[in-house]
Amino acid sequence: MSEGERLTELAKRRGFYFPSASAYGGASGFWTYGPQGAALKSNVEDAWRDRYVVKEGHQEISAPTVMPEPVFEASGHLDGFDDMIVECGECGATHRADHVVEDATDIEEAESLPNEEVMDLIADHGIECPSCGASLAGEPVENFNLMFETNIGPGTSSPGYLRPETAQGIFVEFPQLSEYARNQLPFGVAQIGKAYRNEISPRKSLVRVREFTQAELEHFVDPEEDEPPLDEVADVTVPLYSAAEQQAEDGGQRDLTVREAVDEGVVASEWVAYYLGVSKRWYERIGVDMDRFRYRQHLAGERAHYASDCWDAESEVDGDWIEITGFAYRGDYDLSKHAEHSGEDFTVFKQYDEPITVERATVDPDMSYLGPEFGGDAQRVADALEALAERDPSAFDADEVTVEIDDESYTVPVEQTNFSVDEVTESGEHVRPHVVEPSFGVGRIIYTVLAHAYETDEVDGEERTYLSLPPEQAPTTVGVFPLMDKDGMDDLAREIAGDLRSAGLAVTYDDSGAIGRRYRRQDEVGTPYCVTVDYEALEEGTVTVRERDTTEQKRLPVDGLAETLEQLSTGDRTFDDL
Ligand code: AMP
Repeated sequence: MSEGERLTELAKRRGFYFPSASAYGGASGFWTYGPQGAALKSNVEDAWRDRYVVKEGHQEISAPTVMPEPVFEASGHLDGFDDMIVECGECGATHRADHVVEDATDIEEAESLPNEEVMDLIADHGIECPSCGASLAGEPVENFNLMFETNIGPGTSSPGYLRPETAQGIFVEFPQLSEYARNQLPFGVAQIGKAYRNEISPRKSLVRVREFTQAELEHFVDPEEDEPPLDEVADVTVPLYSAAEQQAEDGGQRDLTVREAVDEGVVASEWVAYYLGVSKRWYERIGVDMDRFRYRQHLAGERAHYASDCWDAESEVDGDWIEITGFAYRGDYDLSKHAEHSGEDFTVFKQYDEPITVERATVDPDMSYLGPEFGGDAQRVADALEALAERDPSAFDADEVTVEIDDESYTVPVEQTNFSVDEVTESGEHVRPHVVEPSFGVGRIIYTVLAHAYETDEVDGEERTYLSLPPEQAPTTVGVFPLMDKDGMDDLAREIAGDLRSAGLAVTYDDSGAIGRRYRRQDEVGTPYCVTVDYEALEEGTVTVRERDTTEQKRLPVDGLAETLEQLSTGDRTFDDL
């Protein structure tokens, strides 16, 4: 069994996650988180919220998952959010064209190649349909839009789409959100929620699914003035696999501090570098194995339509690197597009310390001249003259001035434009913020954390499987067992379980089967501590506390047990100290 298969087997058996609606045959790419998985997921989300919202001082919102078509026209998703698809001429199965190439060759990022090249590679390598084995040579490689379409209300007049990323729900509300932030840059808005992509070939359980949870932060910054608090993470060492290294013959990962990465220009944006540093620590905290982790820069052809520089956090499972988070410097792409398409103001007004006097070129075109001259185009010509005066006042130095509208030229005598340059006093300016975005896939992080926590050893001559999850992430913090379901041990155990729950710990009570089996069950779901109530507990008021990874046991007083377990689980005390 591969690492991934082993994990999926454990995940189903122990209630982390399993395919949805299997009673009806299921639908590929949809998974349900069971009791353990849902608890783990919410712990990961809480840890994310703690780091990226609370500690950063950002705000969180919750936007709808369905949004109307114009949002995605503006964002570029309608036109550009495509994957490459190839259909088998024999059995009709559809596949990600770049993936079949990657699986059959040693090419790593086929996604960055043009469709025709991928089609040629399929032919040159004699690649066959993964479903039926027929040759895929000559089959067209086309673009397939990944958004799920729906109708808003009855009829088809108002198309909508399930959001393919949570980010758009933040961008479209920028004017409001900016007001809430008192129009003061920088500010960040975060969201944890579902995103939907109609993936061509879902695979590897939680890794490529059609409905998944994203945790995204959109950090709006003034590109001219704002700087990240780089000193806070300057010494964090980050494993970087840059585009240049990927393309070099003997290139490889380089471990640099965040400061070195910025000084050497390996990471172009200080903001992106800041979040790479913050996130490296966060991944460590939640249990990603740092020996199986790297940041990989996107190759030019791989970058999303909006990103000017992009790095992915990648984890290794089963020898494959999985993108778990994308860090993108999105510039002002999103806010400009939404401003252009909606006609609303997507800027922040930045007040100067003192008002300043500037020269401003303006026009006041004579419409009684433009009207007869240009008919229905007159207003557009007037607008174009106004924009030109702002952009390039020197264009009005000659006797005539020409503007281009939709490839057509319109020439106007300058005297008819009433061009003038005046001194005006300005109290501030409109700034279009730039956006830095860390975008986390919660499911892929859970998959990674589970895969990296999966351990086996031998206990009492038997093989044992356990998940070495950090206590903060473990679905259950404490398992409470009565040694036997009699003589008051059960009553005391229930009382202890109740007290621990009241103290805020996640507790499982288990009285079924031999004690060894109960330990194994908790080991397999990563419960860091188990408390057993035996006869001595009744007489002495002490219980045994067992630690998961070492299986070591200690006797501790029932008095103060909740506090001790709390300290152990937050790392304030170690088991050895007890
Ligand atoms: P992207 O917008 O493609 O950079 O995606 C942001 C993050 O969402 C990725 O880093 C993944 O962790 C996650 N993600 C994207 N697509 C999927 C998918 N089909 N299934 C699960 N997670 C995904």
